[in-house]
Amino acid sequence: MADKFDVIVIGGGPGGYVAAIRAAQLGLKTACIDMYSDKDGKASPGGTCLNVGCIPSKALLDSSKHFHHLQHEFGDHGISVKDAGIDVPTMIARKNGVVKKLTGGVSQLLKGNKVTFHHGKGILKAGKRVEVTPAEGGETFSLDADNVILASGSVPIQIPNVEFDGKFIVDNVGALDFDQAPATLGVIGAGVIGLELGSVWNRLGSKVTLLEALPDFLALADRDVSKLAAREFKKQGLDIHLGSLVKSARVKKDKVNVVVEGDKGESTHTFDRLLVSVGRKPFTDGLLSEDSGVRLTDRGQIEVDDQSRTSVPGVWAVGDCVRGPMLAHKASEEGIAVAELIAGKPAHIHFDTVPWVVYTDPEIAWVGQTEQELESAGVTYRSGSFPFAANGRALAGGNSAGMVKILADSETDEILGVHIIGANASELISECVVAMEFQGSSEDLARIIHAHPTLSEAVHEAALHLDGRAIHRGN
Ligand code: FAD
Ligand code: NAD
Repeated sequence: MADKFDVIVIGGGPGGYVAAIRAAQLGLKTACIDMYSDKDGKASPGGTCLNVGCIPSKALLDSSKHFHHLQHEFGDHGISVKDAGIDVPTMIARKNGVVKKLTGGVSQLLKGNKVTFHHGKGILKAGKRVEVTPAEGGETFSLDADNVILASGSVPIQIPNVEFDGKFIVDNVGALDFDQAPATLGVIGAGVIGLELGSVWNRLGSKVTLLEALPDFLALADRDVSKLAAREFKKQGLDIHLGSLVKSARVKKDKVNVVVEGDKGESTHTFDRLLVSVGRKPFTDGLLSEDSGVRLTDRGQIEVDDQSRTSVPGVWAVGDCVRGPMLAHKASEEGIAVAELIAGKPAHIHFDTVPWVVYTDPEIAWVGQTEQELESAGVTYRSGSFPFAANGRALAGGNSAGMVKILADSETDEILGVHIIGANASELISECVVAMEFQGSSEDLARIIHAHPTLSEAVHEAALHLDGRAIHRGN
């Protein structure tokens, strides 16, 4: 007889492991199955986010930022350092150590919450039976459950005629593990991964060229933010080519030749390494047996309703394998909501207030709608903004680039969107998410006391500016 659980979670990323912990906290007998293996073939729960995504990229962004500051900004503070150098293998080893600490922490959390963990591949069969093939050898076995949560994540999109080889043409995994800064790095796609990992290697000395198919830069962001970002990244030496659709890439004599179609016809660029970051797609290979009954959309996502129910009662799906933004915090909140729904509690996700952050320098963060979205929806709004160049703390810290922009409904004053480009935008956006969750108005932000001197005063001043009464800028 197969072991029986209240909940089986397939996938141990931020969607899956968080769902499993929350289900166990709610008293449900829970198992979590994850097939990711580290370089030694051992379990490493945490999914893309902890192993080859959010965390390792931020570790390298932080290391490379220190190096960049040492070379280009410490001088302003009167600090001089002779013969600054970067030892890339040490930096990569530190990053690997951070990953190991966190994935080990997830294992401990699962154990501490009495979640049964299996390192292996899970396949959902009819009748909510899950067949597990152990990753480290041994017989395949089956588990039964009243509820199954699918959290199988996503993988990089591969484009035709550009084959990953793991050395010259790489995805995020390869670009997080270069053993030295390539002299020239081509990046296909000036999206979030391209900008973050392009920034890392640019700071460490690579000449980085980003080839972006769309005519607009960072089209998802508010246009004022993307304009400012383009200017800042150009100053840093990132060479961004818009309207450049990559047609093919071939490795010849240890160089990658990339054919690009642009306004002026076809051209060829040659790089030492090429990062392909053209988006990610849901990963469902080998997850569902033919008779599982779980339907996929025509985009390959697992079809779910707005509370993450699939087409099979008792089978749920969360995170990158379903609709919505591919973000770790969205995956985790969905996982928590599903665990609570299974336990009979009310739960709901507000997709309108999922914050986005791009961890470049300056950072970019936003929540809610952009000005162009409001315009095309015919919403009447008022806008207020404040530059960090007029914020005392930003100037003191040498972080004067960027601004805060707040958009509010012109009749009700409800905040509809906040867009920040600047130092610590990733942290500053939280206040704005909270305000929006409480359906706050720009006046609420304007009347709240913000500590001085802090970067958050720029949020305060942008709210004041919206009402024509900013103190530290002309209105
Ligand atoms: P995943 O994290 O992909 O986890 C899925 C897990 O399921 C994997 O371990 C996989 O091996 C396992 N699995 C799949 N199928 C099976 C099966 N059949 N049986 C057993 N196990 C299976 N998001 C942010 O919010 N902030 C960031 O800063 C950020 N940075 C990123 C940087 C990079 C370079 C990348 C690539 C992504 C980044 N993301 C970031 C996105 C974030 O990583 C994902 O949104 C998040 O990991 C999705 O979580 P998930 O649980 O849905 O899937
Ligand atoms: P992306 O969607 O952010 O950017 C991909 C870019 O590639 C787009 O601008 C697209 O126009 C371009 N493109 C597509 N095909 C092309 C071609 N043939 N030639 C040239 N350009 C082409 O995707 P990504 O950067 O791969 O990241 C995937 C996802 O991972 C993100 O959407 C995000 O959900 C997640 N992520 C989040 C963070 C974060 O939250 N900080 C960081 C990294 C990744």
